[in-house]
Amino acid sequence: YPPHLVRNFSIIAHVDHGKSTLADRLLELTGTIRKGLGQPQFLDKLQVERERGITVKAQTATMFYNYGSGGIGSSPGRFLLNLIDTPGHVDFSYEVSRSLAACQGVLLLVDAAQGVQAQTVANFFLAFEADLAIIPVINKIDQLNADPEGVKTQLKTMFDIDPQKVLLTSAKTGQGLEHVLPAVIERIPHPKGVVNAPLRMLLLDSYYDEYKGVICHVAIVDGVLKRGEKIESAVTRQRYDVMDIGILYPELTPTGILLTGQVGYVVSGMRSTHEARIGDTLYQASMVVEPLPGFKPAKHMVFAGVYPADGSDYDALCHAIERLTCNDASVSVTKESSGALGIGFRCGFLGLLHMDVFHQRLEQEHGAQVITTTPTVPYIFEYADGSKLNVQNPAALTSNSGKRILTCWEPTVMATIITPSEYVGSLMTLCSERRGQQIEYSFVDGQRAMLKYRLPLCEVVIDFYNELKSITSGYASFDYEEAEYQSSDLVKLDVLLNGQAVDALATIVHRSKAHRIGRELCDKLKNVLDRQMFEVAIQAAIGSKVVARETIPAMRKNVLAKCYGGDVSRKRKLLEKQKEGKKRMKRVGSVDIPQEAFHSLLKTS
Ligand code: GDP
Ligand code: MG
Repeated sequence: YPPHLVRNFSIIAHVDHGKSTLADRLLELTGTIRKGLGQPQFLDKLQVERERGITVKAQTATMFYNYGSGGIGSSPGRFLLNLIDTPGHVDFSYEVSRSLAACQGVLLLVDAAQGVQAQTVANFFLAFEADLAIIPVINKIDQLNADPEGVKTQLKTMFDIDPQKVLLTSAKTGQGLEHVLPAVIERIPHPKGVVNAPLRMLLLDSYYDEYKGVICHVAIVDGVLKRGEKIESAVTRQRYDVMDIGILYPELTPTGILLTGQVGYVVSGMRSTHEARIGDTLYQASMVVEPLPGFKPAKHMVFAGVYPADGSDYDALCHAIERLTCNDASVSVTKESSGALGIGFRCGFLGLLHMDVFHQRLEQEHGAQVITTTPTVPYIFEYADGSKLNVQNPAALTSNSGKRILTCWEPTVMATIITPSEYVGSLMTLCSERRGQQIEYSFVDGQRAMLKYRLPLCEVVIDFYNELKSITSGYASFDYEEAEYQSSDLVKLDVLLNGQAVDALATIVHRSKAHRIGRELCDKLKNVLDRQMFEVAIQAAIGSKVVARETIPAMRKNVLAKCYGGDVSRKRKLLEKQKEGKKRMKRVGSVDIPQEAFHSLLKTS
């Protein structure tokens, strides 16, 4: 395949605007998957994606499509198209930006009824800044309340997109789909690599296969790669033999060769994440080449401890994390230990949803049983002697270090909110309660406004999204990007059970909110901790000053007391439920703490 017959493109959009469904239709249209067979959202392969109905991982598929006279002379061209389906949620925009590195263009999908939303804006600018060809597509035109003309106007106002260039589709009924691939071929440039140059290939993604070892997804930027050749990594200088190579059609399909501009897979005997570095350049062994720019490192927005639910499982957890980070390079992992939880890891995530998904994948795909601690954003504490401490774990902040704190710094984000105008007032109240600073207030069209706020990251992480949705009956959308640190009056809030501080429950909060958060936390803990054989005092304290207190009276609740009617199956169910809960218990001093306790400060979901 000469590069002029290749197109690499991605589908980008706000969550639920129909990316994965459109991908299905294109795969069917080109005969890559058979119509009606396969599950819907074919490329959402992970269990967590199917359960939550969201795309978490970008997935690539190759399709073949005959079109026009693109071939040599006047013969119709048989084009090779690589489609990359991407996630929409803000936590996974790192996946999106990586996918775009392998593309020359995108389909920018917008729901005909919902119009431009916050992630539409974010994703548009990712593609725009990367200089990609952008094909605007208004999808779901079959809906009764579809307003394609209105959406065209929004696209014109916000992105200066020519209404003539907009495609109209329904991925559900198939309407308008016949125009999509021709537009891809005509409007997206072919990859620009040099066929006769030495090989340069970008490592896009990887995952671990029990039989084959690490499978790498790659984009061949320059040159050609064949099975049997030797490649070398620009980062590690390690050399490998190419044992298997091919395209994703849509399953691994060996071809023995990948040509300039193609996207495909390579198996080369890499064994771990340390070897398969996302963003690495691979080249022919012993050739001297300029490495490709690679990717910006992932910015970790939240950190949490990840511990084995049962102390003896540390090695198994270690193994599971190693395997999973091979497929999710955006997680950072360092060892840590906790008085309450033993030996485990401190992990950095791109957001809370990402953290939840990581937790779920560890359990579902790798059979680990884990406890994750209360997440925190990364703070910086600056001391009078000029030294600085990066705080990714509140427990690491000890008041008896003897050093005087000069300034506390907290991360902030620049948030974009798009909302029907009638909710602007309540959203401004919400943002100011969350210590936000208004940067911009403009209109998308007659009915909708766009707000930009600078907000402390920790205020966004704590349930902001749910609040926003409930205030606006689900009509507002929200996206953010990281902004600089700001100085702030922060304190460490300790949690004590019967006088003993539980390091895994410590948090850092703004001083003005310490009392309220302390009270809420004690109250929540009271509800999730079981009664013990003795009284348990729950306290929240700043240093030696107690700011809130609750007491759980003695005596354990007897779960069976509720059903002395003698319903055996119900009894068994309750017992099983209790047993299940026990696995996630940690005993601190003499008090059993269930998993929910660690999550109780920051509500997620
Ligand atoms: P993604 O989050 O952008 O990948 O969106 P999905 O492809 O998962 O689609 C979200 C929902 O919209 C699913 O329930 C789809 O069945 C539905 N959907 C997708 N395309 C259309 C369309 O053209 N018309 C209608 N009515 N529904 C659609
Ligand atoms: Mg999807």
